[in-house]
Amino acid sequence: MSDPNCTPQLADSHGRVMDYLRLAVTDRCNFRCVYCLPDGADESEPHTLSLAQIERILRVLGSMGVRKVKITGGEPLVHPEIVDIVRLAKNSPNIVNVTLTTNGLLLDKLAPGLIAAGLDAVNISLDTLDPARFHYLTRRDYLPRVLAGLDLVLAAGDLAVKVNCVPTADSPMADLLALAGLAKDRRLHVRYIELMPIGLGQGLKGLDPQELTRALVATYGPLTPVSRQLGNGPATYFALPGFVGRVGFISAVQSRFCDRCNRLRVTADGFFKTCLHMDRGLQLPLADEAAMVETIRRAVRLKPASHLFNQDPQTPQDSPAPQAPRADQSADPLPENRLMSRIGG
Ligand code: SAM
Ligand code: SF4
Repeated sequence: MSDPNCTPQLADSHGRVMDYLRLAVTDRCNFRCVYCLPDGADESEPHTLSLAQIERILRVLGSMGVRKVKITGGEPLVHPEIVDIVRLAKNSPNIVNVTLTTNGLLLDKLAPGLIAAGLDAVNISLDTLDPARFHYLTRRDYLPRVLAGLDLVLAAGDLAVKVNCVPTADSPMADLLALAGLAKDRRLHVRYIELMPIGLGQGLKGLDPQELTRALVATYGPLTPVSRQLGNGPATYFALPGFVGRVGFISAVQSRFCDRCNRLRVTADGFFKTCLHMDRGLQLPLADEAAMVETIRRAVRLKPASHLFNQDPQTPQDSPAPQAPRADQSADPLPENRLMSRIGG
């Protein structure tokens, strides 16, 4: 595909073009979601990228072909310079789209600044509208503030808004249906993300998406597939009768979409991960741009053809087996064992 800006494209050794960066600006978080972070204090050393380091990472990756940036964490809004980060990313050469994924807690204070800084879209992670369930899932009582933040970004007008929910086998169906109901009268999309067996997710069971689909149809009417892509990701979207917004599904485990992977991931300690699900990558030399370019080229070449979810005992066995590692991969791929809060989703 030709690049409208005539700047280089960053292709991996499987011919996929990488133009999308997920940048974890901090791995600290003010929630403790049951599938992501253990309760109590986070024992391991927290990491936070400085504004200068972020500026360098974006300048280098922008010059190599990255066009879209998702700012993630941990919780990105706890980064003390998050508004400056968004402004910097928006003004970074070749970066055309800057979005953010957040638990929503601090949006009530930060939304105006983020919008003024040029944020293009926000994803709010929200699994329930029930206060007791919210407390159980996040170990916090902040549902009213998250909902206030959601209202604020919706009122802001042209910011694209999505609500992301990770259903688990014990999610009350009524909760999941109520979340979809947010898209009835509001200009937002609600997406259901398959639980991934990473970190604490390995000890939980996800919900069968077919079960949810049947309940959505029974409650709201037929789901009509939407062909237009909404956003940067691999979600499949559907329209529901009389709904302003869409509902979407992201099934990284069951519907493998690795052949369309365009993603790069940099964690808050400056580690370049080659795949969400693999404990493999290279440490970026954050102070040396020329060395960073070389490291990124090497790391991109190490991107695997696909994730390893289907090799895990708790994932379905009828999916096609992952391809064997290519010769340029120096060691056997290992499944990721870090907490999701250290990767950024
Ligand atoms: N704190 C921010 C948030 O919650 O949006 C950004 C970081 S969080 C790790 C990014 C996303 O990963 C969230 O939508 C969260 O629900 C999702 N996530 C965390 N653990 C997961 C798991 N085991 N499987 C699937 N998604 C997960
Ligand atoms: Fe924090 Fe996001 Fe993980 Fe929840 S999902 S614990 S908000 S990083």
